[in-house]
Amino acid sequence: MRDINTAKANIDAIGFLEIDIDINIDLFAAIEKLKKEKNAIVLVHYYQEPDIQDVADFIGDSLGLAQQAEKTSADIIVFAGVHFMAETAKILNPFKKVLLPDLKAGCSLSDSAPPELFKLFKDKYPGHIVITYVNCSAGMKALSDIICTSSNAEKIIESLPRDQKIIFAPDKNLGAYLNKKTGRTMVLWNGACMVHEIFSLEKIIKLKIRHPKAKVIAHPECEEAVLGVADYVGSTTGLLKYSVESDATEFIVVTETGILHQMQKSSPYKTFIPAPPNNSCACNDCPHMKLNTLEKLYLCMEYETPEITMDENLIIAAKKPIERMLAISKQYGL
Ligand code: SF4
Repeated sequence: MRDINTAKANIDAIGFLEIDIDINIDLFAAIEKLKKEKNAIVLVHYYQEPDIQDVADFIGDSLGLAQQAEKTSADIIVFAGVHFMAETAKILNPFKKVLLPDLKAGCSLSDSAPPELFKLFKDKYPGHIVITYVNCSAGMKALSDIICTSSNAEKIIESLPRDQKIIFAPDKNLGAYLNKKTGRTMVLWNGACMVHEIFSLEKIIKLKIRHPKAKVIAHPECEEAVLGVADYVGSTTGLLKYSVESDATEFIVVTETGILHQMQKSSPYKTFIPAPPNNSCACNDCPHMKLNTLEKLYLCMEYETPEITMDENLIIAAKKPIERMLAISKQYGL
C-alpha cells in the first residue's frame, strides 16, 4: 500500500490517488459522512457509473450541473464528471475548492478544439459571434462570446438577430443539427465526440426491426444519419424527460449508457435498450467518464485532492461567456 505522500507525488503522472482502501469501509456511508464534515457537495454527470450516481447531491447534464455549481453554498465541490466540467465549476467558484476524482478524465470533443488553432480559425471570420458548446477547455471558453449546452443551444442561437453571423464550435454534428433546426448557416468547427460518433446506423435499424414498438431517442452529438432515424432528439435531460413522459414502454437509447440508470430508476417497468456502436461492443461507454470510480471519489474527498487549479486571468476571461449562457437560460426559464 502506498502512503499518502507518495500517492500525492504521483497525482500529476497518474491523475488520481493510488491508495488501497480498507475493504471493510462502507464507501456510501463514508462519503455521506465526509460531505457533512467538510460541507462538500457531490455533483454528478448522468454518464457516471451507477454507484457514483447514487451518492450524488445533484445529478444532471452540463447545464444543470453548471447551474448547481453557480448557486451552491458548499465549501467544497466534488465533481464526478470530466475535466472541462470541473473546470467550469471552478470558473464559477474561483474561491472554492473543486475536486475531480481523476484528473485524467478528459474528453475527445474538448481535445478536438485546441485554443491556439481555434484562434487562427476565428480570425478568418471577422464579425462572427462565437457560440461554443460547453464541452471544451477553459482556453476555448475564453475565446468565445457565449457558451451553450445541448439543453439551451437552440434558445441561445434564437436570442441573436437572424442576420448575426455565427461560428459554432467544437461539435460539428450538434452544429449541423442546430443549423437545420434554426435555419441558420453557422460556420462549424470540425470537432466530434468519440462516443456519439460511432453509433452504428445499421445496428440501430436492426434493433428497431426486432423491437418495432420501441422509440429511438438520440443525443444531437450523433451523426446526421443516426438522428434521421430517431423519434426524438434531445439533450441528456431531454431524453430522460421524454422517456418518463412518453406512453411508449420500450426505448432504443442512442447516447452514453450511463443515463440508462436514471431512466430505469424513473420508469422501472419500461425497457431501455442501449444502441450499439460500430465495433464489437454491445453498448457505448465514454472511457473518459468511466475513469472515475467510487473509490477514487472517496479518496479525493478524504484527502481533498486532486484539485482543479487555474490561472486567475483565464478564469476571468472564461467566466463571461458562461455567465452570458446562464443569464439567457434564466430568461427562457431553462
Ligand atoms: S461522451 Fe463524448 S463529449 Fe461527453 S465526455 Fe465523453 S468524449 Fe466528451
